[in-house]
Amino acid sequence: MKISIDKLRNENPLNVFFKEEIHGIDAIKPVTGNLALTLNSTGVRVKGIISTILKLTCVRCLNTYFFPIRVTINENLIFNLVTDNAKDRELLKNDFVENIPIDNQIDLSDIIYQSVILTSPTQNICASDCQGITPGSNSKDRFDPRLAKLKNLIPKNQDQ
Ligand SMILES: [Zn+2]
Repeated sequence: MKISIDKLRNENPLNVFFKEEIHGIDAIKPVTGNLALTLNSTGVRVKGIISTILKLTCVRCLNTYFFPIRVTINENLIFNLVTDNAKDRELLKNDFVENIPIDNQIDLSDIIYQSVILTSPTQNICASDCQGITPGSNSKDRFDPRLAKLKNLIPKNQDQ
């Protein structure tokens, strides 16, 4: 979803209901949320809360599980200024500041994509008590969940 600066000039602040399946995010439902866009002299602030349910793979048991997330969006987009001013350049380096593209379109999908990626867990574990690896630091006590799955693939022999 893109919002033009012209639209913001007509309605400021602009409240947007966002609902979109975002490419690159493995989710089982569209990302939804209410966003408020406020135009000011330096740029546009985007604030709101979005949510979705991510589809993740547990690194312990390799099962797929679902992970609901709520992400607070608070981005400050500044007008794309060509500047030699050192202070402005310092501001541009700030992680929370992004330039508004030359076409004057605010790409909400991209802002939300980046926020979701930053919020996603770095190590995916389906549950704190996931039994993928048995407790104990001794390597003999551990089993590889992938091997356990392979074991199930071996046909039962005549013993049974
Ligand atoms: Zn697990």
